[in-house]
Formats: sequence, C-alpha cells, structure tokens
Amino acid sequence: MRTAEIKRRFLAHFEANGHLVVPSAPLPAIDDPNLLFVNAGMVQFVPYFLGQRTPPAARAVSVQKCLRTPDIDEVGKTSRHGTFFQMNGNFSFGDYFKEGAIALAWELATNPVAAGGYGLDGDRIWATVYLDDDEAIDIWHKRIGLPLERVVRRGKKDNFWSMGIPGPCGPCSELYFDRGPEYGPDGGPEVDEDRYLEFWNLVFMQFARGPGTDKENYPILGELPAKNIDTGMGLERMASLLQGVDNLYEIDEVKPILSHAAELSGKRYGAQSGHAATQSHPDDVRLRVIADHVRTALMLIGDGVTPGNEGRGYVLRRIMRRAIRAMRQLGWSGPVLPELLPVARDCMAPSYPELATEFDRIAQYAYGEEDAFVATLKQGTTILDTAIADTRSAGGATLTGEKAFQLHDTYGFPIDLTLEIAAEQGLGVDEEGFRRLMAEQRARAKADAQARKTGHADLSAFRTVLDTGGPVQFTGYVEVARETTVRALLNRDGAPLDAAGEGETVGLVLDVTPFYAEGGGQQPDTGVITTGGGQVEVLDVQSPLPGLIVHTVKVTRGEVRPGDEAYAEIDVYRRRAISRAHTATHLVHQTMRNHLGESATQAGSLNAPGRLRFDFNTPGAVSPAVLHDVEQQVNEVLMSDLEVHAFVTSLAEARRLGAVALFGEKYGDEVRVVEVGDYARELCGGTHAARSGQLGLVKVLHESSIGSGVRRVEALVGIDAFSFLAREHVLVSRLAELYRVPLDQVGERVEQTVAQLRDAERELEKLRGQLVLGSVAGLAAGAKDVDGVALVTTEAPEGTGGNDVRTLAQEIRGQLAGDRPGVVAVAARAGGKASLVVAVNSAARERGLDAAALVKGALSGRGGGSPEVAQGGGVPADQAPALLGAVERALTG
Ligand code: ATP
Ligand code: MG
Repeated sequence: MRTAEIKRRFLAHFEANGHLVVPSAPLPAIDDPNLLFVNAGMVQFVPYFLGQRTPPAARAVSVQKCLRTPDIDEVGKTSRHGTFFQMNGNFSFGDYFKEGAIALAWELATNPVAAGGYGLDGDRIWATVYLDDDEAIDIWHKRIGLPLERVVRRGKKDNFWSMGIPGPCGPCSELYFDRGPEYGPDGGPEVDEDRYLEFWNLVFMQFARGPGTDKENYPILGELPAKNIDTGMGLERMASLLQGVDNLYEIDEVKPILSHAAELSGKRYGAQSGHAATQSHPDDVRLRVIADHVRTALMLIGDGVTPGNEGRGYVLRRIMRRAIRAMRQLGWSGPVLPELLPVARDCMAPSYPELATEFDRIAQYAYGEEDAFVATLKQGTTILDTAIADTRSAGGATLTGEKAFQLHDTYGFPIDLTLEIAAEQGLGVDEEGFRRLMAEQRARAKADAQARKTGHADLSAFRTVLDTGGPVQFTGYVEVARETTVRALLNRDGAPLDAAGEGETVGLVLDVTPFYAEGGGQQPDTGVITTGGGQVEVLDVQSPLPGLIVHTVKVTRGEVRPGDEAYAEIDVYRRRAISRAHTATHLVHQTMRNHLGESATQAGSLNAPGRLRFDFNTPGAVSPAVLHDVEQQVNEVLMSDLEVHAFVTSLAEARRLGAVALFGEKYGDEVRVVEVGDYARELCGGTHAARSGQLGLVKVLHESSIGSGVRRVEALVGIDAFSFLAREHVLVSRLAELYRVPLDQVGERVEQTVAQLRDAERELEKLRGQLVLGSVAGLAAGAKDVDGVALVTTEAPEGTGGNDVRTLAQEIRGQLAGDRPGVVAVAARAGGKASLVVAVNSAARERGLDAAALVKGALSGRGGGSPEVAQGGGVPADQAPALLGAVERALTG
C-alpha cells in the first residue's frame, strides 16, 4: 500500500468516526519558544490540552509533518528513525478515553484491506502499558482479546507521558508489530525494538502534574476533570510494514532518492546487508542517511527555513552537509543536491503540491548552500589533514580543542565534521576543550554587547529598580516632551546613587518617558531632561529588561537626585528623521516582497536619522533592474501620501489581517500593528512618520551580500536622500565641464577616455619590448666564454614585464651559435624584488646544463621551469647582480 493511501485511510477512518480533519502545522514551531521544530502531532493542540483555548471540535485527526533532531544519530542505523517523518494522530479533548482510543486504533490496524483497514495480522501485534495501568490491560485483554503474554508492562521512562511542566500527564500504551525472526531475537519489545516495531503510541492524559524538572520525578496532583487522548502513528513505519520492506528508507516516498544516490556512487544497495538493521553494511547506512537528509532538507526549505549558523537554520545546514559529505565518502564528487533534490520533490509533491510550485526557490537555497559548503570543505579539509598529521607525528591521539576551535572560528569548519573526519582517521577530538573555548567566546561577545549597551553586565540592579517601581511607561508614540519624576540613578556598575553632579555620566530611570529605547532596529532618542536643580543630556536609551527604560545621561548643569520632578524633552528633529527612516524600511520591505516573493523577509534592520539599512532573506543577488523598480515603486507610494496608522490588537487578528510578522520573533498575545495605507502592514513597536508623503524621497544606494542567503540594501531618506543626489549632480556637472560636453554625454566620454588610456598603455608596453629586443644582437655578440660555454648575463631595463624578460632571454639564446653550448641569464627588478630567467640551448643541455637547476642554485632552491627555460625570484631588488654572478659561478664550478 502506498504511503499516500495509508495517509488517506487514516484520515477517512477517523473522519468517519466523528473527527475534524485538521491540516498539518508548518515544521518550524513558531508558537513555542522552547521548541525548534514540531516533533509530534499534538504540538499544535497544546493550548487545548492546557485548557487555554477551546478546541473547535471534541475530536480531531491530522497528519503532522515532524522533525526530531535528537534522532539524527539513529538515522540509517535503526530501521525506524527519520529526521523528518509524518505522524498520523487522532485526538480527543475531554471526549472518548482509553477504551475508545484502543478500539479505534486496533480496528484500523487490523481491519482487512478490502474493508478500508491496514490488514495487519492481529496475532503479531504486541502492546505495552504503564506498570499499574490495569484499566488498559483489561481493555487489551478482555475487550480486544490480546493474550496477556503479548501485553507488556513498562516503567515511567517508556510509558508515562508529560510535557515537562505542570499540566496534563498520564500513562501510554504502544502498539508493536512483530516483523519475524529474521529481524532479531524473540521476546517482545523489551528485548528488541527493531524486530518488534513500535508503530503507534496512545497517550492517555489522565492526571494533572505539579512542578519539577526531573523527567521521572514530579508530584501527581490528581485526576483531570476532562481526560484527553493524544495518539501518534508513524506514517513511514506503517508504510515499511505494509510495503514489506526492511526499513523506512525503502518505502515509496524515500527509496527513489536512495536508489539514485546508489546509482551515482556506483554502489549496489543491500548487496552486503542482512534484513535486520544491525546487519547493515556501512555504505548502505550512508545511502539511507543521504536519502533521509535530502528529503528532510526539501521539507524544511519548503516550510521557509533557510540555511544559517543558528537555531533552525543550523539544523538545516547540518543536515545538508551530512548528506553531501556522505556522498563524498561513497566516492561521488559531483553535485549532490542538484541530482537528488528533484527526486525527493517527485516523491513528496503528490502529498505536498507546494513543493513542486515552490521548487525553484527551494533549489536556489539548497544549491547555493552546497556550493558554499564545497568551498569550505576544500579549504578546511586541507588544514584539518595537516593538523591530523601533526598530531599523529607528535604521537598524540586527540586533536586539541584549540585546533578544532580555530578551524571553526577562522575557517567556518563545523565541529561535527571535524569530529567525523578525525574519527575516520582514528583520532579523538578534545570536544570539551572546544566547547569551553566556544563558551568563552560567546560569553565575551555577550558581555561586550551588554557592556556597550548598558555600561555593565550585571542585570540584577535593573531588576530591583523594575521590581520596586513597576514598568516604565513609554509615551513617545503620542508626545515628544512631558513632566515626569526621576525614579533612580545608577552608576556604571549598576549601584544606586543618591545624586549625580555636573560632568558625571550615569544611568537614569524615569517613571514615565517619551524617550524611545533602541529596539526593532530603531536607534534611540536623544534629548534633554531638566530638573529643579540641574539638567542632563540624554546620550543613549536602552531597555535592558522588558518594561524598564534606562537613559544614559551626562549631567551638564547642577545636580540631579532620585525623586526630582523633571521635564523630559526629546530631540524632535532627530526623532522625526528616524521615524521617516523606519516608515521607509516598511515600504522597502513590502516592495521587496512584491518583487521577490513572500520569502524575502526581513532579517535585521537599522533605522537611523535619514538613513536605513535593511537585511533580508533571498537566495541570490538582487539585480540592478529590480532594485531600480523597487526604488521607483517606493517613491510612488510616497507621492500617494498614505496615512500611517498604528493600533494594538490580538496576534490572531493581526495574522488574519496579513500583517508581516518577523520569522522567529516572539510576540505576546497583544501586538502593535503599523500600516501604511493599505500598502504595508507589519507588526512593529517603533515610531513612524504620520503620512508617507513626509518621507519626501527615498534613494536606494546599493545592495550587497552579508552571508549565505542574506542580502543588505542601504537607502537614504528625506533631506539626506536629496543632499546625496545634489552632491552627485555637482560631481557630474564638474565632469561635464572638464570634458566640455553636455551632462548626458559624460558617461560616453569617460568610457572613451578609459579606452584611450588602455590603448596608450599597451602601445607603451610594446615599444618598451621592442627597445629591449633591439639590444638582443649586441648582447649575443658580447657573449663571454666560460669553460667552453657561451654565457650572456644581463640585467633587463627597470620596469620590463615578466613575459618580456623571458622573451629577451630566449631571443638572445636564439642569436647564439647553435653548435656551441650557450647559457643566457637575465635578471630584472620590479616592485622592489629581483627575478632571474635562465635559458640554455640544446648543445648546453647535452653538456648536462639545466636551466631549472641553475635558477634553483642561484635562488637557494626557489623557482622552477623546464630544463630549457626556468625562472624564479622574490629576493630583494639589490641582489639582481648577485643572481647573475651565481649563474656564472655555477658554470665554472
Ligand atoms: P522510538 O522509541 O522508536 O524512537 P518514540 O517513543 O520516540 O519511538 P513517540 O514519541 O511515541 O515515538 O512517537 C509516536 C510515533 O511516531 C511512534 O510510535 C513512531 O511510529 C513514530 N516515530 C517516532 N519517532 C520517529 C522517527 N524518528 N521517525 C519515524 N517515525 C517516528
Ligand atoms: Mg524516539
């Protein structure tokens, strides 16, 4: 039975039994900050299980895309673990419980194929239950008729479920299928989990648990008033059973990738392996890893993940790199993803059609990443090989943490690769040392950033200020000045101060402030705060903790104290220029998306007075034509003078309105939406112009790459944009004046001039060459006899090009009498260095004279070439005569 059919039957079975069909959530777990990827069907239903939201129906069914990074090391070695896989699940929210769940699962698993089931032989199914779950045992034995020998009690580790936090928990019951003795020993799942394959897990959410971090040790508070069911059936595992293959890499959705990889690398998959996963040849394991990882990469990029150095992006990068490396190990050195990714697409697109329509975008990221990795590999491998050889010759068995760190830090060579390559060579790596250096570097970077922003690294003082006074209110969306009170003063180490006098720089906290703290890419406000006894200048504003705003101020007059009444006033001109830049950023973002597609999402930004910098995800360079169109469209929006409007709403409502949320950013339930007319709508906490017309003008300066898949545009806004264009105009006018042509002919004239200059240089070089060659006959005639060899030594005129020096030597040799041994040595000086060319004729060759040997002799081993003509150099220019002398001495000696 094909995988798509297994999936269809699952949904049909549960829909017929009153379940609402719910689509899969995307792989990135955006709503859960503790989770990178969705790893089970229940993840999208968590708010229902926790009672935070009301489910749309009491029963639901889904086929969820899942990714389990902890399983990455199992892939290919067991028969049942993929990184990406699909979990079919049925869910009950306070509706049916144990008996319903067990009966529904059993029915689908064992009903004959003709009757819509999977037709598994019930006599080969085993069930596990939690130690004291007699209720479940009774259902399995009495209601289903499973003999007690095939119902196994297991402990908390395997058969008790909780989310690790206070909330629902409860026993599980798992279904296993006995694949037969060729897969392992008898004895049930306790003995061999590969022969007895777990295909379905039923979780009975029966109790409420209390706090506790220990996985197996937490208080059970009592029975839940409404009990839930959460089940997961591995789609690939069921497919491997129903398709009669040995493992989930051989099912219809994966095998074609594996086969193509085998074909490319010339391996016969399976020829040297047994049925059980433990009897696998290493090459077969590699092929399975490749097939799994290529499919996973496809699904990840399909769901919007792009390769990067952190978080989800790093998981993707690591998976692609492992696949590429495994192909190298199998002996295939050609492109990997361009060969295998289209095969994966063809396997998966029937179930996920967007993979076909989006394939160009997916492929661009994947192939770009492969190119970058191949370059890294080339460089890193050479360095690593040297390090390994050095370690060996010093008699060591482990590569130092410093070396691994250097490879990572300087060459971008990933640690897992270092580990793998070292292990292949029989060496260990001081991983602990590596991690320590990484941690140190991270701590340094963090302390640095923190110290730069707030003046000190310890946040506890801020915490106290926040806890005693409550959150600081920011009023700067609606006003630029206000009366307020000084709540606290802090010195650079975070210690509270009673007063700050003239000339001192301190941290100052107000009860209410119109000053915007740096955030969301927007630069902080500056300005002035005046109290009865003094005045301070605000240099910087940061929010070291949510709800707390700290002004870095310099006391310019008198003295300030906590409790002082104060008047806080921001620099309005600066703020307006920043706000205009921020609004411009939203317009550039939206316009980029219009041109490059939805995936061109913001990856960072800077909104400073009059200028902006905007980083975004896109696979390749943005062409000048697109950039020009973007700029034009943005300026058209300015002229439409759209109203900029901000409002607070629920995250769900904002999503419904299509507001752009930044990928990976965490938002609360309440969010602020900023819209520019109907053109751009984005979640944003920053300040903005009131109307797009206030921006005046936006000038896009340039576009560049700042890392794999991330591009940066910079632009000027308002008067800064105007000044830039005005300056350029002055420059062009000046050129026009110098060339005495109208403005629109300047470009042409510059081109002409450059071409003329190039021609003139070429001509000059030619003349110089002729001059040099003109001296050939004279030099040949002046050959002196050294031990029966005609020797010409000469220094080429200063500035003679390398090729000309060579030609000169050969020309002189041509003029020497052919029947006599002849040697020509020409020295030259250029760029502060001396070089040497030696040419010998065939009569000299017969005498055993060798040009390369002569050069090497003169340059202590450096240089090379053929026995007829050779060259070398790199010594200080004043050694030119000495080089010639050395050649002559070699002939006499
Ligand atoms: P195992 O012990 O075999 O790793 P598990 O206990 O981690 O499985 P669950 O967390 O109970 O599995 O997940 C529910 C179902 O999802 C399993 O019964 C199995 O069919 C499937 N499943 C789990 N992990 C994977 C994986 N890495 N690849 C494919 N299917 C999986
Ligand atoms: Mg597992």
